[in-house]
Amino acid sequence: MVAVGVLALQGDVREHISALEKAGASAVPVKRVSDLEGLDGIVLPGGESTTMGKLLTLFDLLEPLRKRIADGLPAYGTCAGMILLASEVLDGRHDQKLLGGLDITVRRNAFGSQVHSFEEDLSVAGVGEVHGVFIRAPWVERAGPSVDVLARVGEHPVAVRQGHLLATSFHPELTGDARMHEFFVSTMVS
Ligand code: GLN
Repeated sequence: MVAVGVLALQGDVREHISALEKAGASAVPVKRVSDLEGLDGIVLPGGESTTMGKLLTLFDLLEPLRKRIADGLPAYGTCAGMILLASEVLDGRHDQKLLGGLDITVRRNAFGSQVHSFEEDLSVAGVGEVHGVFIRAPWVERAGPSVDVLARVGEHPVAVRQGHLLATSFHPELTGDARMHEFFVSTMVS
């Protein structure tokens, strides 16, 4: 069984843990550097990316996690987690800290301040029809040449994969459907 950590500094940690367990992984909350030991992958949950960046620094996790991801630790970021994995953020805070690794530029709160939240059925390549829950979600404004776009809303990518890194603007952990997590786990073992 693969061991997948869920960054547990802020955000919807419990929902990711149960989705990962449904997907057949053993799920472990990650709060300190020692929790990274023995992990086969990590999920970066939704929440608030600027706060998570600050907490990563405060808990001395920013550099160790950056390095593990750069060295090939599989990671799946949802919403704020997508922002953390991005190489560049637009409409972020000037001092916002990112983990990086994924060659994308994301626009934070991209769907507009009027429409904070919406739901839409999406076709995700490699997964199928998925009900997307978007909460003050980012979209991908630029995807590098080695990034596969798995789903879009209009013209904007909302699910992307680059090798060992997966990111979605939406929150599959809130729907009870564990197929995105299964997909992540399957990329880890293959
Ligand atoms: N808007 C949040 C941010 O910038 C992300 C929202 C979410 O994760 N649901 O981090």
